[in-house]
Amino acid sequence: MDSKKLNVTNEEDEGASTGPLTPPYQTPKGVHDILPNDHKYHTFIKKVVRHRCRQAGFRRITTPIFEFTDVFTRGIGATSDIVSKEMYTFQDRKGRSMTLKPEGTAGVVRSYIQNGMQALPQPVELYYIEPHFRYDRPQKGRYRMFWQFGFECIGESDAALDAQVIQIAYTILKDLGIAELFHLQLNSIGDEVCRPNYINVLRDFYFGKERSLCADCKYRLEKNPLRLLDCKEEDCQILAQIAPKLVDYLCTECKAYDKDVKEFLEEMGIKFHQNNSLVRGLDYYTKTVFEFWDRNEGAQNAIGGGGRYDGLIELMGGAKTPACGFAAGMERIVAAMKREKIRVPEKDDLHVFVAQLGDEAKKKCLPLISDLREAGVRTMGALGKGAIKTQMRLADKFKVPYTLILGLTEVREGTIIIRDMSVGTQVTVPFENAVEEVVKRIGEKNLDTYTPGEVVF
Ligand code: AMP
Repeated sequence: MDSKKLNVTNEEDEGASTGPLTPPYQTPKGVHDILPNDHKYHTFIKKVVRHRCRQAGFRRITTPIFEFTDVFTRGIGATSDIVSKEMYTFQDRKGRSMTLKPEGTAGVVRSYIQNGMQALPQPVELYYIEPHFRYDRPQKGRYRMFWQFGFECIGESDAALDAQVIQIAYTILKDLGIAELFHLQLNSIGDEVCRPNYINVLRDFYFGKERSLCADCKYRLEKNPLRLLDCKEEDCQILAQIAPKLVDYLCTECKAYDKDVKEFLEEMGIKFHQNNSLVRGLDYYTKTVFEFWDRNEGAQNAIGGGGRYDGLIELMGGAKTPACGFAAGMERIVAAMKREKIRVPEKDDLHVFVAQLGDEAKKKCLPLISDLREAGVRTMGALGKGAIKTQMRLADKFKVPYTLILGLTEVREGTIIIRDMSVGTQVTVPFENAVEEVVKRIGEKNLDTYTPGEVVF
């Protein structure tokens, strides 16, 4: 097995500083926890994606985290970087080769075929929000486990559908407040009619220039010459710039298709840049492909990309079926949102802290906490044995807008204190009115409240 094609149980060279096998444990290199502060971004992104996909008639699909390795090698292409260097491949107990999914499309296409979705009205429009795994070199924005959302439109070929996929992606970026950071790059990479001829022309061009290429490109020249065009090495880029352009070798159909996609985008006011070296890293693409590039960092920090893949379903054992799709990286979106200081709803912040003193008070607090929560108030109870002063300090640390205080006097008198933490004032109200009074105050402060089954939009 290729040394880079690691068995997942064989990661001894990749531990964090203390090593993976001795406590305290750390995550493997390139793999991260999503901590609560980042989860609010992830939740918001998911809601936006769900909303925009539903609006456009897409339905959610979840494919397994691992599949038979062939699903990916066949679909993505054996010579692609993903398959040749980046897959987490392992054998199950019966010796069958399995792979953690490195991207979403191959699994969705496998499912489309397996579940007879070609019998449904076409196009079948599906979206997913899932983790993916690639043995990539970890760096800023590049991880070994990362989240992607994506959508696929399977079963019809029309440039309007490609334009619509791009438009949904663009709208999601706009909803998230980051569309202006990215620049839509477009290219046509031809199809089975015109691409083979172009690849021959490209090979001829590189003939005799092999020594100027990086090691990867020498391999690409033999196995996957199209990838020579998007190499990041400086010498390779210089050659790529003067290499024959695919756009000059497209067949009439691919040319017309590309023109139509662009016209539809113009019609919708979506700006794009014709990028002759955009080829995408996966073999299954045909015709028009696209990526959203960071305006400052270019391809290094692309937020997402996609295109048409008319040959994939047949390649995976289904009938000849056209399709197109898009996928975006959620960690990179979160980073872009933070860079832009985009605020997301603080749905996790507490509204109320309940402090109490004495056994009687604690008994009365438990149903009160439950009633507050039922009424949509995010409530934390200090149910330990700390003094009221300690509990109040805790309330301060949790930065709650209100604290309810139930001491011995209040229990005796059938009241409760509501303290406004931002101004430090407090009122005493009848205990039975506590929920109503808190809900009223939260409403007045315009703190968002939970409504069962809520959506953002
Ligand atoms: P791709 O289909 O490979 O172009 O991936 C689509 C998007 O997923 C990229 O534009 C990135 O935003 C994201 N992505 C891909 N690989 C990684 C990775 N290793 N770590 C984080 N995000 C990634």
